[in-house]
Amino acid sequence: MLSRLKTKHIVLCELIIIFLFASFLIKKGFDQDTYMHTALYDTEKDYIKWVSFDVSSQAMDRAYRYDVESRSWDVQINWIEVLACLGTRYGGDFSKYKERHMTELVEKLKNKEETIETLTKDMKYYDYYYEAYSAVLGGMVGDYRIEVADDTAPGGKRWEEKYGLKAFLPLAKYYPYSHFDDFGVSRSYGFRRKHLGHDMMGQVGTPVIAVESGYVEALGWNQYGGWRLGIRSFDKKRYYYYAHLRKNFPFNKSLEVGSIVQGGDVIGYLGRTGYSSSENANNINTPHLHFGLQLIFDESQKECNSEIWIDCYDIVQFLSRNRSETVKDPETKEYSRIYQFVDPVAEHYINHSTYQYNDDEFEIHIYD
Ligand SMILES: [Zn+2]
Repeated sequence: MLSRLKTKHIVLCELIIIFLFASFLIKKGFDQDTYMHTALYDTEKDYIKWVSFDVSSQAMDRAYRYDVESRSWDVQINWIEVLACLGTRYGGDFSKYKERHMTELVEKLKNKEETIETLTKDMKYYDYYYEAYSAVLGGMVGDYRIEVADDTAPGGKRWEEKYGLKAFLPLAKYYPYSHFDDFGVSRSYGFRRKHLGHDMMGQVGTPVIAVESGYVEALGWNQYGGWRLGIRSFDKKRYYYYAHLRKNFPFNKSLEVGSIVQGGDVIGYLGRTGYSSSENANNINTPHLHFGLQLIFDESQKECNSEIWIDCYDIVQFLSRNRSETVKDPETKEYSRIYQFVDPVAEHYINHSTYQYNDDEFEIHIYD
């Protein structure tokens, strides 16, 4: 009798412990969700406020090739969806990336065993990764028209319609450069601050190329970046920053605030200006292009204390396959692209643009 009572007692105690433990886990999960949400999103307006873009160039390359190859399959693979799916699985940390993870995922989609919706339905943060990665990569792949070399055509060139990478490396073809992952290292001109961009060391005068189509939002001098250019993507999500441009001849002379550029256009020239409050000063020791990419989900983020700048090292590695070839005009000393290009997104913007530009409205935050 006594032992039966004891057993009941023990069972009851165990149940209570299990119950307490389960509620602890549920609460912990709930707290973690709330914590994650407030870490990633603005609490009032619910836009993304923090992104650490860690996708490796290998993963970008593989996903991109699936996207292009799948144009001839029944099922279209979207490289950003694939990367966002893996990003969610890795918690954003692509040091966990294995090619077979992507292969298995794409096989399931290709064989119609799964769709991206069924694959991600239980992934809480898939929407976050998809939106974040779309903000970074959204303008890079699509339809475009470009001139290609053709000896049999008049002028040695003809137009081709293509689908694929329409973003370019920021330095012109055949010009050497060196770089390493220098995002986040500290800098000390003016005050101690982190390096929020990517430096590409090269020769003074190397033509600087627009990575993506967009419009010029900033052009001129600031004491950190020297002669610098800011170009905003048409969807307004990306702000490309090109700094330390050449003394005396920094920009393509046709450009002004509001000008439209297309990916692959010559926008300026590599130099070593900056780190000085006096205009046109060469105060940088090693000539280089400082290339920065800022994400903007809400206009209030353009200039604030928590701007989202992205590590561009892997992006630059990925873009190195697509470089714009340029030629110099001996009279004007200006360089221009050899193969003309039409980005439908830029064309659409030109045809439908109702924007008015006002020089005073475009001021940017300053980084070297
Ligand atoms: Zn830099």
